[in-house]
Amino acid sequence: MPPASHAAAPDANLPDAAAVRHDWRLDEIEALFALPFNDLLFRAQQVHRRHFDANAVQVSTLLSIKTGACPEDCKYCPQSGHYATGLDKEKLLEIEKVVEQAQAARDAGASRFCMGAAWRSPRDKDLEVVLEMVRRVKALGLETCMTLGMVDTDQAGRLAEAGLDYYNHNLDTSPEYYGEIITTRTYADRLETLANVREAGMKVCSGGILGMGEAPRDRAALLQQLVRLDPHPESVPINMLIKVPGTPLEDVEDLDPVEFIRAIAVARILMPKSHVRLSAGREQMSESTQALAFLAGANSIFYGDKLLTTGNPQAERDRALFAKLGLHPERRASCADDSQAQAGLEAAMARQADEARAAALAYDATEA
Ligand code: SF4
Repeated sequence: MPPASHAAAPDANLPDAAAVRHDWRLDEIEALFALPFNDLLFRAQQVHRRHFDANAVQVSTLLSIKTGACPEDCKYCPQSGHYATGLDKEKLLEIEKVVEQAQAARDAGASRFCMGAAWRSPRDKDLEVVLEMVRRVKALGLETCMTLGMVDTDQAGRLAEAGLDYYNHNLDTSPEYYGEIITTRTYADRLETLANVREAGMKVCSGGILGMGEAPRDRAALLQQLVRLDPHPESVPINMLIKVPGTPLEDVEDLDPVEFIRAIAVARILMPKSHVRLSAGREQMSESTQALAFLAGANSIFYGDKLLTTGNPQAERDRALFAKLGLHPERRASCADDSQAQAGLEAAMARQADEARAAALAYDATEA
């Protein structure tokens, strides 16, 4: 039987071992990476429990609102127009379609709806449409997040005015390794977009991708860059590279999952109050690796990337994993509508547990 889920408050009695700092030195971060695995996870758990309900996971849903033909050359990305990956290009989705999918995501338990467009930067006429999407999705009671490429101060201001809560723009890797991965825009461009987002008053979602052939020092340096952002990004997606055939990174050597978990734990220690998101690459991970990631302090996931119906096998696997680990979706104190979203996911989890129990009983009956 899966354990019942209980919301537990953060434990204020735990030592505040990692106060919020922005001045972590590279050697200090590398020393965390070098800790014995059990010690690292113990420290990460202490920090995690000091600031969060350790069994709560924030749940977001991602929708691609404009797919493919991106002019940028990010070597990991199937949406780049520079590589032949067989991906079907799609125009900007109609507003009604986006709202429909947001509604479905909300009813299935997502609390945040993330919309991504494969652009270098949004054009003015596209931005108008996107602003309306933000208003309409927001009106459903969902938090909104967008990733549209680089934005200047004016564009960031307009997005904030429309009610956009989060803007995602990843740093991807260390400044030193960055040139191996992208040549069409610079690290400084990325930092500038993040500064524009912050200045406009939006929350920042920024992280990176591991397993792109980078050295251990690059992983430490990526986290150092994120830590320097003041305040820390509210959301820190840590992605494991998905090796897509046709991209230049299709044959890169796999990263050991233990190294990936170490990066999650170090991110948790360095950014104690941020949500660390177990992001792309999760579908390829074993349940045990995902469980270790939650133990290391990951507390946010993307829950399916399609309509969240019971026909979505990934969403079903996620619900089963939540039930097995006794995890529950995080409640947002600020959102009155959240109880409905929470109820949607909990009801789906309960249905799934009932089905599992029924299946076990049927099995027992045939044994008898
Ligand atoms: S900017 Fe985004 S969509 Fe475009 S190639 Fe890079 S990662 Fe892909």
